[in-house]
Amino acid sequence: MLTIKDLQASVEEKTIIKGLNLTINPGEVHAIMGPNGAGKSTLGYVLSGREGYEVESGSIQFENQDLLEMEVDERARAGIFLAFQYPVEIPGVSNMEFMKESVNAARKERGEEPLSAAEFLKTAKAACKQVNLPLDFLKRGVNEGFSGGEKKRNEIMQMILLQPKLCILDESDSGLDIDALKVVADGVNSQRDGERSFLVVTHYQRLLDYIQPDYVHILADGKIVKSGGPELAKEVEVSGYAWLEGHEEASA
Ligand code: ADP
Ligand code: MG
Ligand code: MG
Repeated sequence: MLTIKDLQASVEEKTIIKGLNLTINPGEVHAIMGPNGAGKSTLGYVLSGREGYEVESGSIQFENQDLLEMEVDERARAGIFLAFQYPVEIPGVSNMEFMKESVNAARKERGEEPLSAAEFLKTAKAACKQVNLPLDFLKRGVNEGFSGGEKKRNEIMQMILLQPKLCILDESDSGLDIDALKVVADGVNSQRDGERSFLVVTHYQRLLDYIQPDYVHILADGKIVKSGGPELAKEVEVSGYAWLEGHEEASA
């Protein structure tokens, strides 16, 4: 589904991603962990096509398309959900209106009929319930005045409604409480169906107590220096990242 080869990327002329390789197959859940400043969020931003993130070399394929040739909105329509694309506030546009447009654009791309207002409302109410947001959040301006936890719930609601093929989440927010973490985890778990894939960037081992990833990768200094199963996250919880010192080149 997603194949990243020898990716090198920079921000402000500083190379942050330094030769990263990653393959995600349909249905797989991959977690990326790593010390602060390793480049985890940068990887997410590069995948999202955010301005200012320059790809210097390497390639990213999404379902046989060249991701790097795709505009930001094309990536979304092709079925990539990038959580951090959505937390933007759009005052004056209701959450419901915004999501209905987005969902119907995604359906069109899949060759499905658009949902009517009534059908969408029904689906949206169910998703709202699932993430424990009061229904009036549908009527409010997109993310307008939402708290951190509410934005997070809203983001997961968006993911549930959009039914993407690949979900990329960056759980970097240190302000997330345990309830919000559980919303993220439950959201991911409820959407795992053997087809949909996930890339979960996390600064917390704790999140992986709730999401059982198929693969865990440690990103350090712009490269994946170690990959393994869920046990790797446990190792990190016990030993931290001190073992990385001097081992980066050897295991890269
Ligand atoms: P992580 O998410 O793994 O903690 P980041 O991807 O946020 O790491 O950051 C990786 C490195 O890139 C850090 O050294 C950070 O200071 C640098 N960096 C990120 N964004 C910018 C930017 N806009 N300008 C300059 N340096 C940046
Ligand atoms: Mg950081
Ligand atoms: Mg980060």
